[in-house]
Amino acid sequence: MKCFDGLKIAAVVLCAGKGERTGLPYNKLLHGIGQKTVVEKTVETFINTGLFAEIVCAVSEADYGEIKSRLPSSVELCIGGDTRTDSVRRALAALSPDTDIVLIHDGARPFVSERIISDAIKSAMEYGSGIPAVAVVDSVKEVSDGRIIGSPDRSSLMSVQTPQAFSYREIADAYSRVDCATTDDSEIYRLAGYTPRIIRGEYTNRKITTAADVFMLSDGYKIGFGYDVHRFAPGRKLILGGVEIECDKGLLGHSDADVLTHAVMDAILSAAGLPDIGVLFPDTDPAYEGVSSMLLLSRIMKLAGEKNLRVLGLSCTVMAERPKLAKIIPDIRASLANALGIAFDSINVSATTTEKLGIVGDGAGMASAACVLLGT
Ligand code: MG
Repeated sequence: MKCFDGLKIAAVVLCAGKGERTGLPYNKLLHGIGQKTVVEKTVETFINTGLFAEIVCAVSEADYGEIKSRLPSSVELCIGGDTRTDSVRRALAALSPDTDIVLIHDGARPFVSERIISDAIKSAMEYGSGIPAVAVVDSVKEVSDGRIIGSPDRSSLMSVQTPQAFSYREIADAYSRVDCATTDDSEIYRLAGYTPRIIRGEYTNRKITTAADVFMLSDGYKIGFGYDVHRFAPGRKLILGGVEIECDKGLLGHSDADVLTHAVMDAILSAAGLPDIGVLFPDTDPAYEGVSSMLLLSRIMKLAGEKNLRVLGLSCTVMAERPKLAKIIPDIRASLANALGIAFDSINVSATTTEKLGIVGDGAGMASAACVLLGT
Protein backbone atom coordinates (compact mmCIF):
# COMPACT_ATOMS: atom_id res chain seq x y z
CA MET A 1 0.00 0.00 0.00
CA LYS A 2 2.30 2.70 -1.25
CA CYS A 3 -0.50 5.22 -1.70
CA PHE A 4 -0.02 6.70 1.78
CA ASP A 5 3.75 7.25 1.41
CA GLY A 6 4.90 10.55 2.80
CA LEU A 7 2.17 10.77 5.44
CA LYS A 8 2.89 10.00 9.04
CA ILE A 9 0.08 7.74 10.24
CA ALA A 10 -0.35 6.57 13.82
CA ALA A 11 -2.77 4.28 15.64
CA VAL A 12 -4.08 4.51 19.17
CA VAL A 13 -5.44 1.22 20.53
CA LEU A 14 -7.53 1.47 23.69
CA CYS A 15 -6.84 -1.43 26.03
CA ALA A 16 -7.41 0.13 29.46
CA GLY A 17 -11.06 -0.85 29.98
CA LYS A 18 -12.04 -3.35 32.63
CA GLY A 19 -14.50 -5.26 30.45
CA GLU A 20 -16.77 -5.97 33.41
CA ARG A 21 -19.73 -6.92 31.20
CA THR A 22 -17.90 -10.04 30.02
CA GLY A 23 -17.87 -11.38 33.61
CA LEU A 24 -14.27 -12.52 33.08
CA PRO A 25 -11.99 -12.30 36.11
CA TYR A 26 -9.36 -10.60 33.91
CA ASN A 27 -9.20 -8.00 31.11
CA LYS A 28 -11.13 -9.36 28.10
CA LEU A 29 -8.26 -8.23 25.87
CA LEU A 30 -6.18 -11.01 27.41
CA HIS A 31 -8.75 -13.64 26.45
CA GLY A 32 -7.61 -16.19 23.88
CA ILE A 33 -8.59 -16.31 20.23
CA GLY A 34 -6.85 -19.38 18.89
CA GLN A 35 -3.19 -19.16 19.93
CA LYS A 36 -3.33 -15.39 20.47
CA THR A 37 -5.01 -13.00 22.84
CA VAL A 38 -7.58 -10.44 21.70
CA VAL A 39 -5.08 -7.58 22.07
CA GLU A 40 -2.42 -9.37 20.01
CA LYS A 41 -4.87 -10.13 17.21
CA THR A 42 -6.14 -6.54 17.18
CA VAL A 43 -2.69 -4.93 17.09
CA GLU A 44 -1.36 -7.49 14.59
CA THR A 45 -3.85 -6.34 11.94
CA PHE A 46 -2.59 -2.76 12.25
CA ILE A 47 1.04 -3.89 12.07
CA ASN A 48 0.35 -6.11 9.04
CA THR A 49 -0.87 -3.17 6.97
CA GLY A 50 2.65 -1.74 7.11
CA LEU A 51 1.12 1.74 7.16
CA PHE A 52 1.78 2.87 10.72
CA ALA A 53 4.77 4.89 11.82
CA GLU A 54 3.63 4.60 15.41
CA ILE A 55 1.19 2.42 17.39
CA VAL A 56 0.38 3.40 20.98
CA CYS A 57 -1.73 1.19 23.26
CA ALA A 58 -3.38 2.79 26.29
CA VAL A 59 -3.34 0.17 29.06
CA SER A 60 -4.13 0.02 32.77
CA GLU A 61 -1.27 -0.18 35.23
CA ALA A 62 -2.49 -3.64 36.27
CA ASP A 63 -2.20 -5.06 32.73
CA TYR A 64 0.90 -3.13 31.65
CA GLY A 65 3.40 -5.98 32.13
CA GLU A 66 1.22 -8.69 30.61
CA ILE A 67 0.27 -6.66 27.51
CA LYS A 68 3.83 -5.39 27.04
CA SER A 69 5.12 -8.98 27.01
CA ARG A 70 2.61 -10.01 24.34
CA LEU A 71 3.22 -7.21 21.84
CA PRO A 72 6.24 -6.49 19.62
CA SER A 73 8.68 -3.97 21.08
CA SER A 74 7.82 -1.49 18.30
CA VAL A 75 4.38 -0.99 19.91
CA GLU A 76 4.45 1.74 22.55
CA LEU A 77 2.38 1.58 25.73
CA CYS A 78 1.01 4.44 27.78
CA ILE A 79 -1.01 4.28 30.97
CA GLY A 80 -4.67 5.03 30.27
CA GLY A 81 -7.01 7.10 32.39
CA ASP A 82 -10.15 6.38 34.38
CA THR A 83 -12.42 6.96 31.39
CA ARG A 84 -12.17 6.23 27.69
CA THR A 85 -11.88 9.96 27.00
CA ASP A 86 -8.95 10.27 29.43
CA SER A 87 -7.20 7.32 27.83
CA VAL A 88 -7.56 8.77 24.33
CA ARG A 89 -6.26 12.15 25.51
CA ARG A 90 -3.19 10.54 27.07
CA ALA A 91 -2.48 8.36 24.03
CA LEU A 92 -2.82 11.34 21.64
CA ALA A 93 -0.34 13.24 23.79
CA ALA A 94 2.09 10.31 23.54
CA LEU A 95 2.19 10.49 19.73
CA SER A 96 4.82 12.42 17.77
CA PRO A 97 3.61 15.99 17.21
CA ASP A 98 4.30 15.67 13.47
CA THR A 99 1.69 12.89 13.07
CA ASP A 100 -0.61 13.60 10.09
CA ILE A 101 -3.39 11.07 10.63
CA VAL A 102 -4.36 9.05 13.68
CA LEU A 103 -6.68 6.06 13.90
CA ILE A 104 -8.32 5.50 17.28
CA HIS A 105 -9.40 1.89 17.82
CA ASP A 106 -11.08 -0.19 20.52
CA GLY A 107 -8.70 -2.96 21.57
CA ALA A 108 -11.78 -5.20 21.92
CA ARG A 109 -12.45 -5.21 18.16
CA PRO A 110 -10.03 -7.92 17.00
CA PHE A 111 -11.82 -8.59 13.71
CA VAL A 112 -11.05 -5.21 12.15
CA SER A 113 -10.11 -5.63 8.49
CA GLU A 114 -7.27 -4.05 6.57
CA ARG A 115 -9.93 -2.71 4.19
CA ILE A 116 -11.58 -0.63 6.93
CA ILE A 117 -8.20 0.68 8.09
CA SER A 118 -7.25 1.70 4.58
CA ASP A 119 -10.63 3.30 3.79
CA ALA A 120 -10.61 5.22 7.09
CA ILE A 121 -7.16 6.64 6.27
CA LYS A 122 -8.21 7.63 2.73
CA SER A 123 -11.29 9.39 4.09
CA ALA A 124 -9.25 11.23 6.74
CA MET A 125 -6.82 12.37 4.01
CA GLU A 126 -9.65 13.76 1.92
CA TYR A 127 -12.23 14.91 4.49
CA GLY A 128 -10.38 15.12 7.82
CA SER A 129 -12.07 12.04 9.23
CA GLY A 130 -13.26 8.52 8.40
CA ILE A 131 -15.74 6.81 10.73
CA PRO A 132 -16.78 3.22 9.95
CA ALA A 133 -20.52 2.74 10.32
CA VAL A 134 -23.11 0.08 9.55
CA ALA A 135 -26.86 0.38 9.14
CA VAL A 136 -28.92 -0.46 12.22
CA VAL A 137 -30.55 -3.84 11.59
CA ASP A 138 -32.79 -4.10 14.65
CA SER A 139 -35.83 -1.92 15.14
CA VAL A 140 -34.71 0.79 17.54
CA LYS A 141 -37.19 2.04 20.15
CA GLU A 142 -37.31 4.94 22.53
CA VAL A 143 -38.15 3.52 25.93
CA SER A 144 -39.20 5.12 29.19
CA ASP A 145 -40.21 3.34 32.36
CA GLY A 146 -40.32 -0.04 30.62
CA ARG A 147 -42.66 1.17 27.87
CA ILE A 148 -42.00 1.96 24.24
CA ILE A 149 -42.79 5.62 23.65
CA GLY A 150 -41.45 6.11 20.15
CA SER A 151 -39.76 4.63 17.11
CA PRO A 152 -36.97 6.76 15.62
CA ASP A 153 -36.70 6.57 11.84
CA ARG A 154 -34.20 3.77 11.34
CA SER A 155 -33.15 5.02 7.91
CA SER A 156 -31.30 7.93 9.51
CA LEU A 157 -29.57 5.81 12.19
CA MET A 158 -26.23 4.05 11.96
CA SER A 159 -24.02 2.16 14.42
CA VAL A 160 -20.49 3.51 14.43
CA GLN A 161 -17.42 1.37 14.94
CA THR A 162 -13.69 1.87 15.21
CA PRO A 163 -11.03 2.51 13.99
CA GLN A 164 -12.04 6.14 13.59
CA ALA A 165 -9.49 8.06 11.55
CA PHE A 166 -8.84 11.77 11.97
CA SER A 167 -6.50 14.50 10.97
CA TYR A 168 -4.20 14.48 14.01
CA ARG A 169 -4.25 18.24 14.23
CA GLU A 170 -8.06 18.35 14.25
CA ILE A 171 -8.71 15.54 16.76
CA ALA A 172 -5.99 16.86 19.09
CA ASP A 173 -7.66 20.28 18.85
CA ALA A 174 -11.09 18.73 19.55
CA TYR A 175 -9.82 16.87 22.63
CA SER A 176 -8.13 20.04 23.90
CA ARG A 177 -11.41 21.97 23.73
CA VAL A 178 -14.16 19.43 24.44
CA ASP A 179 -14.37 17.61 27.74
CA CYS A 180 -17.27 15.24 28.07
CA ALA A 181 -17.71 11.51 28.54
CA THR A 182 -18.58 9.87 25.22
CA THR A 183 -18.24 6.34 23.93
CA ASP A 184 -16.63 7.35 20.66
CA ASP A 185 -14.29 9.94 19.27
CA SER A 186 -16.47 11.16 16.40
CA GLU A 187 -18.73 12.80 19.00
CA ILE A 188 -15.87 14.79 20.57
CA TYR A 189 -14.82 15.79 17.03
CA ARG A 190 -18.38 16.83 16.17
CA LEU A 191 -18.84 18.80 19.40
CA ALA A 192 -15.67 20.69 18.54
CA GLY A 193 -17.35 21.90 15.35
CA TYR A 194 -15.95 19.41 12.82
CA THR A 195 -18.15 17.21 10.61
CA PRO A 196 -17.33 13.49 10.96
CA ARG A 197 -17.39 11.61 7.66
CA ILE A 198 -18.82 8.08 7.46
CA ILE A 199 -17.13 5.15 5.67
CA ARG A 200 -18.47 1.64 5.20
CA GLY A 201 -18.02 -0.48 8.33
CA GLU A 202 -18.44 -4.25 8.59
CA TYR A 203 -20.81 -6.26 10.78
CA THR A 204 -17.97 -8.69 11.46
CA ASN A 205 -15.99 -5.83 13.05
CA ARG A 206 -17.85 -6.44 16.28
CA LYS A 207 -16.78 -5.36 19.72
CA ILE A 208 -16.33 -8.00 22.41
CA THR A 209 -18.55 -6.72 25.19
CA THR A 210 -20.63 -9.42 26.87
CA ALA A 211 -20.06 -12.96 28.12
CA ALA A 212 -21.90 -14.19 25.01
CA ASP A 213 -19.40 -12.35 22.77
CA VAL A 214 -16.53 -14.10 24.52
CA PHE A 215 -18.25 -17.45 24.12
CA MET A 216 -18.72 -16.84 20.39
CA LEU A 217 -14.97 -16.42 19.93
CA SER A 218 -14.65 -20.20 19.93
CA ASP A 219 -14.77 -22.00 16.61
CA GLY A 220 -15.00 -25.51 18.00
CA TYR A 221 -16.25 -27.19 21.17
CA LYS A 222 -15.44 -30.37 23.05
CA ILE A 223 -17.17 -31.80 26.09
CA GLY A 224 -15.68 -34.02 28.73
CA PHE A 225 -16.89 -35.94 31.76
CA GLY A 226 -15.00 -36.87 34.91
CA TYR A 227 -15.85 -38.89 38.03
CA ASP A 228 -14.00 -39.61 41.25
CA VAL A 229 -14.50 -41.21 44.68
CA HIS A 230 -12.45 -40.89 47.86
CA ARG A 231 -12.83 -42.56 51.26
CA PHE A 232 -13.10 -40.53 54.49
CA ALA A 233 -10.26 -40.81 56.99
CA PRO A 234 -9.64 -39.15 60.34
CA GLY A 235 -6.82 -36.62 60.70
CA ARG A 236 -7.10 -35.44 57.09
CA LYS A 237 -8.21 -32.04 55.73
CA LEU A 238 -11.38 -31.93 53.66
CA ILE A 239 -10.70 -29.93 50.50
CA LEU A 240 -13.21 -29.44 47.70
CA GLY A 241 -12.45 -27.30 44.64
CA GLY A 242 -9.41 -25.93 46.46
CA VAL A 243 -11.50 -24.77 49.45
CA GLU A 244 -10.80 -26.21 52.88
CA ILE A 245 -14.05 -27.20 54.59
CA GLU A 246 -14.62 -27.64 58.29
CA CYS A 247 -15.28 -31.32 59.02
CA ASP A 248 -14.13 -33.86 61.60
CA LYS A 249 -12.77 -36.05 58.78
CA GLY A 250 -11.04 -35.48 55.51
CA LEU A 251 -10.59 -37.58 52.43
CA LEU A 252 -7.86 -40.15 52.04
CA GLY A 253 -5.61 -40.02 49.01
CA HIS A 254 -2.04 -39.73 47.75
CA SER A 255 -2.55 -36.04 46.94
CA ASP A 256 -4.75 -33.70 48.99
CA ALA A 257 -7.66 -35.95 47.84
CA ASP A 258 -9.71 -33.03 46.50
CA VAL A 259 -12.36 -35.29 45.00
CA LEU A 260 -14.14 -32.47 43.17
CA THR A 261 -11.01 -31.09 41.52
CA HIS A 262 -10.04 -34.62 40.50
CA ALA A 263 -13.35 -35.03 38.66
CA VAL A 264 -12.87 -31.60 37.05
CA MET A 265 -9.35 -32.51 35.92
CA ASP A 266 -10.46 -35.81 34.40
CA ALA A 267 -13.31 -34.02 32.62
CA ILE A 268 -10.85 -31.52 31.07
CA LEU A 269 -8.39 -34.26 30.11
CA SER A 270 -11.18 -36.32 28.59
CA ALA A 271 -12.43 -33.39 26.49
CA ALA A 272 -8.88 -32.61 25.38
CA GLY A 273 -8.20 -36.22 24.38
CA LEU A 274 -5.43 -36.56 26.95
CA PRO A 275 -4.69 -39.43 29.38
CA ASP A 276 -6.47 -39.27 32.77
CA ILE A 277 -4.96 -38.04 36.04
CA GLY A 278 -4.10 -41.57 37.17
CA VAL A 279 -1.73 -41.79 34.19
CA LEU A 280 -0.40 -38.21 34.35
CA PHE A 281 0.04 -38.04 38.12
CA PRO A 282 0.41 -41.67 39.35
CA ASP A 283 -0.20 -42.26 43.05
CA THR A 284 3.00 -44.30 43.14
CA ASP A 285 5.07 -41.20 42.38
CA PRO A 286 6.32 -39.56 45.59
CA ALA A 287 6.35 -36.19 43.76
CA TYR A 288 2.57 -36.08 44.11
CA GLU A 289 2.35 -37.04 47.77
CA GLY A 290 0.19 -34.45 49.54
CA VAL A 291 0.28 -32.21 46.46
CA SER A 292 -2.42 -29.56 46.04
CA SER A 293 -4.89 -30.67 43.39
CA MET A 294 -5.24 -27.03 42.36
CA LEU A 295 -1.57 -27.08 41.38
CA LEU A 296 -2.22 -30.19 39.28
CA LEU A 297 -5.26 -28.43 37.77
CA SER A 298 -3.05 -25.53 36.68
CA ARG A 299 -0.75 -28.04 34.92
CA ILE A 300 -3.71 -29.60 33.16
CA MET A 301 -4.91 -26.17 32.03
CA LYS A 302 -1.47 -25.70 30.51
CA LEU A 303 -1.66 -29.05 28.71
CA ALA A 304 -5.11 -28.16 27.33
CA GLY A 305 -3.76 -24.73 26.33
CA GLU A 306 -1.00 -26.43 24.35
CA LYS A 307 -3.77 -28.14 22.37
CA ASN A 308 -5.35 -24.72 21.84
CA LEU A 309 -8.26 -25.50 24.17
CA ARG A 310 -9.62 -23.53 27.09
CA VAL A 311 -12.46 -24.10 29.52
CA LEU A 312 -15.70 -22.30 28.67
CA GLY A 313 -18.05 -23.83 31.22
CA LEU A 314 -18.16 -26.35 34.03
CA SER A 315 -21.01 -28.14 35.76
CA CYS A 316 -20.34 -30.49 38.65
CA THR A 317 -21.96 -32.43 41.46
CA VAL A 318 -20.59 -33.48 44.81
CA MET A 319 -22.19 -36.61 46.33
CA ALA A 320 -21.98 -36.91 50.11
CA GLU A 321 -24.19 -37.61 53.12
CA ARG A 322 -22.26 -34.96 55.03
CA PRO A 323 -21.08 -32.29 55.59
CA LYS A 324 -23.78 -30.00 54.21
CA LEU A 325 -22.23 -27.94 51.44
CA ALA A 326 -24.86 -25.37 50.41
CA LYS A 327 -23.20 -22.48 52.27
CA ILE A 328 -19.72 -23.22 50.96
CA ILE A 329 -20.68 -23.70 47.30
CA PRO A 330 -20.20 -20.01 46.33
CA ASP A 331 -16.63 -20.21 47.67
CA ILE A 332 -15.99 -23.40 45.70
CA ARG A 333 -17.37 -21.82 42.53
CA ALA A 334 -15.19 -18.74 43.04
CA SER A 335 -12.11 -20.87 43.65
CA LEU A 336 -12.66 -22.96 40.52
CA ALA A 337 -13.56 -19.88 38.44
CA ASN A 338 -10.29 -18.30 39.49
CA ALA A 339 -8.28 -21.44 38.74
CA LEU A 340 -9.90 -21.96 35.34
CA GLY A 341 -9.85 -18.26 34.38
CA ILE A 342 -13.56 -18.11 33.60
CA ALA A 343 -16.54 -16.22 34.98
CA PHE A 344 -18.21 -17.25 38.24
CA ASP A 345 -21.46 -17.66 36.30
CA SER A 346 -19.85 -20.13 33.91
CA ILE A 347 -19.38 -22.64 36.74
CA ASN A 348 -21.92 -24.34 38.92
CA VAL A 349 -21.62 -26.91 41.65
CA SER A 350 -24.52 -28.88 43.07
CA ALA A 351 -24.52 -31.20 46.04
CA THR A 352 -26.60 -34.29 46.67
CA THR A 353 -26.83 -37.22 49.05
CA THR A 354 -27.31 -40.71 47.64
CA GLU A 355 -30.26 -41.52 49.95
CA LYS A 356 -27.97 -43.57 52.21
CA LEU A 357 -27.31 -46.00 49.36
CA GLY A 358 -23.91 -47.26 48.23
CA ILE A 359 -20.39 -46.19 49.20
CA VAL A 360 -21.36 -42.56 49.59
CA GLY A 361 -24.66 -43.32 51.30
CA ASP A 362 -23.05 -45.30 54.12
CA GLY A 363 -20.93 -42.24 54.95
CA ALA A 364 -17.65 -43.92 54.08
CA GLY A 365 -16.66 -41.43 51.42
CA MET A 366 -17.52 -38.76 48.89
CA ALA A 367 -17.87 -38.81 45.11
CA SER A 368 -17.87 -36.08 42.46
CA ALA A 369 -18.87 -35.86 38.84
CA ALA A 370 -17.96 -33.03 36.48
CA CYS A 371 -18.94 -32.07 32.96
CA VAL A 372 -16.82 -29.50 31.16
CA LEU A 373 -17.09 -27.60 27.88
CA LEU A 374 -13.85 -26.68 26.17
CA GLY A 375 -13.51 -24.33 23.24
CA THR A 376 -10.69 -23.39 20.89
MG1 MG B 1 -9.04 -38.89 43.07
